[in-house]
Amino acid sequence: MSTPSHSTAQNDTAPEAFIRVAIPTPLRRLFDYLPSASYPVEAIKPGCRVTVPFGSRELVGIVMSIEANSDIPSNKLKPIISILDNQPLLPKDIIQLCQWAARYYHHSVGETLSQALPKNLRIGKPASMGSIPFWFASSELDAETANLLQRSKKQLAAFELISNAPNGLNGTELLESGFSRAILQSLSKKGLIESRDIEPSSLPFTEQNSPLKSAHLIMNDEQHYACEAITDGLGSFNTYLLEGVTGSGKTEVYLQTISAALAKGLQTLVLIPEIGLTPQTVKRFRDRFNVPVACLHSGLSDGERLQGWLEASRCSAGILISTRSGIFTPMPNLGLIIVDEEHDSSYKQQESLRYNARDLAIYRGSQANCPVVLGSATPSLETLHNARQGKYTQLHLKQRAGNAKPPAMELLDMRHQLVQDGLSTELLQRIGVHLARGNQVMIFLNRRGYAPSMICQDCGSIIDCHHCDAHMTIHRFPPHLHCHHCDLQQPIPWQCPSCQSRKLQPVGQGTEKAEQTLNQHFPSYPVIRIDRDTTRKKQALGEMLEKINTGKPCILLGTQMLAKGHHFPDVTLVAIVNADAGLFSSDFRGSEKTGQLIMQVAGRAGRGQKPGQVIIQTYNPEHPSLQLLSMNDYGRFADSLFVERRHLNLPPEGYLTLVRSESMNQGESETLLSALRQYAEHNKGQLTDTRLLGPIPAPMEKRQGRYRWHLLIHGKDRKDLHRVVEGMVSFLESHRLPRQLKWTVDIDPQEMS
Ligand code: ADP
Ligand code: ZN
Ligand code: ZN
Repeated sequence: MSTPSHSTAQNDTAPEAFIRVAIPTPLRRLFDYLPSASYPVEAIKPGCRVTVPFGSRELVGIVMSIEANSDIPSNKLKPIISILDNQPLLPKDIIQLCQWAARYYHHSVGETLSQALPKNLRIGKPASMGSIPFWFASSELDAETANLLQRSKKQLAAFELISNAPNGLNGTELLESGFSRAILQSLSKKGLIESRDIEPSSLPFTEQNSPLKSAHLIMNDEQHYACEAITDGLGSFNTYLLEGVTGSGKTEVYLQTISAALAKGLQTLVLIPEIGLTPQTVKRFRDRFNVPVACLHSGLSDGERLQGWLEASRCSAGILISTRSGIFTPMPNLGLIIVDEEHDSSYKQQESLRYNARDLAIYRGSQANCPVVLGSATPSLETLHNARQGKYTQLHLKQRAGNAKPPAMELLDMRHQLVQDGLSTELLQRIGVHLARGNQVMIFLNRRGYAPSMICQDCGSIIDCHHCDAHMTIHRFPPHLHCHHCDLQQPIPWQCPSCQSRKLQPVGQGTEKAEQTLNQHFPSYPVIRIDRDTTRKKQALGEMLEKINTGKPCILLGTQMLAKGHHFPDVTLVAIVNADAGLFSSDFRGSEKTGQLIMQVAGRAGRGQKPGQVIIQTYNPEHPSLQLLSMNDYGRFADSLFVERRHLNLPPEGYLTLVRSESMNQGESETLLSALRQYAEHNKGQLTDTRLLGPIPAPMEKRQGRYRWHLLIHGKDRKDLHRVVEGMVSFLESHRLPRQLKWTVDIDPQEMS
């Protein structure tokens, strides 16, 4: 243990205590500091934040322990600068979880702990909620006010909601119910509502009155069985795979299991994929329960996130709904963990600590001695593998809930079709039929922008990004070229950069172009385009979803943002424009991901009373994967992938680690990885059943101006693999590197990009 600090003379008496601190630096070790006159050791507890001098900077660290000895002479140690918390902010279990994650992912404990905190705490702000504005009704809901608001249904609805909340409602709660700040301002101007700053409730959720706000649905037999199995398991650790086809009512199973947990005074952590965490999702939970539901996701302000974190960690919230980082939130009464859409790739963090929240959820469940429920219609191969080996308890929901029937799937052979901008005549005709019947149609095209590339008709060259091995995407609104990999944007050129010809043509289809084509074909129906470009503004998505929920006939067009979680009961036709795109990907997970996406998109059809139909446009209708998927048979599709993986010796057959290196200078990345490989070969004694693959260039070698290379390590045995990787990481850490050269280690990589 050491510190980089220069020696500072302390008083002569040798200190009896050393404060061991985890600091957010890439260095994989802890650092010792001294107490000070104003901060004696008695005031310092493990789990508290302290500020400390580190080199020339002042950093926020977490106290790990108080030690009687240090390896560093005390005259070389510096005192801490301040203590930020009177009481430990991070409890023992979270520190232990972070230590485990740091070891498993070969990452620094300090950085791991730091990123476990919401930003405000990470930068040293106080761990208190402070007061936030709550809205209260300042007038009666009588005939007069109703009259005043008769022109604005929205304002009236907001006023009604607020009038019925004696404890007031805050801006976030109102936004989640669909009422924007502007609506509140108008009501306030009319003198109907007023805002007061108050501290949000910190009563423990168990002391709040009846937990249920609205009655549970009556579950079908499968739901009932699944719910009972998990409920019986409360109080002990076990992992359940809840494999339920789309629309089978997994959420109802979650809600009723949570209800059982709440009745025992237990908190539930619900993890949800990034894209799936819409206000609608949270609303579904809040509508069911009276106990406070905290949430944490990227759409919230830093203050709101701190509030969610504190509510969960102080037990005032009975439920926490969160994207992946929520896995690190303290929950003293944690009794149930749910990971919805467990196959979703957003559970894996792709930078810094490259953790998978689903995998950490299982560790956390074993810590808390509670059930972990992994829910999905299309489980990942890793999870299916674990379930089939008997490590997880399998629960099935094979029927759609209520009266909904499974959608009819159909492969549309594009080889014999007239095609306009990627849409076949047959498809256009069918869209027309569904719309004319008063239904909604959903078109899935996983490419935003107008067209994915621009080609010169004279010399054949394609306009590429200067910084990446990638084509520039054309956007029309506003017109520009955009690289989706490095965000470079430039005007659309008049002339071909290679031959000066003026004959530049967009090729392929993006959502902007499809929107244009659909508008031309169906001028009397609105086309609602949902992709990253149309949903940039905070409330845009909510407004579009609202429009869809009116149930009026319309065309929803979008990228994978449309695929997940949404429940649109009036959609009767779902079309997948370009199903072939992902099937021939260079990534070994390509077909798994494509299959999952197709099943998820297809699952949006026919979720209400009306039957659903799915049309998959393809030039490869004989492709075995498409055949199985079109039979609605994810299980057999997964079986075929297992065979392939076993054949190629890829996960879930064994385990993978990917070492990436990148540099602005060509050659450097490869050289480093070659040296690393040599080192590993040299220590072959340890290698046992471990194989090295590479160095090879990344599928997109140049990205954002950096040349990127990979070295892949495959191991039959996880422990052996980790031992080898540990040696390699130590080698890399001890290597003096050119300034531009960076490396990262990715355990259980999800993407090979
Ligand atoms: P999943 O998440 O499995 O795709 P959801 O939980 O969204 O499915 O449920 C789909 C629809 O079925 C929702 O509208 C839900 O309210 C409804 N539903 C769920 N369970 C039942 C039930 N037992 N009876 C009637 N409707 C149900
Ligand atoms: Zn040209
Ligand atoms: Zn680029």
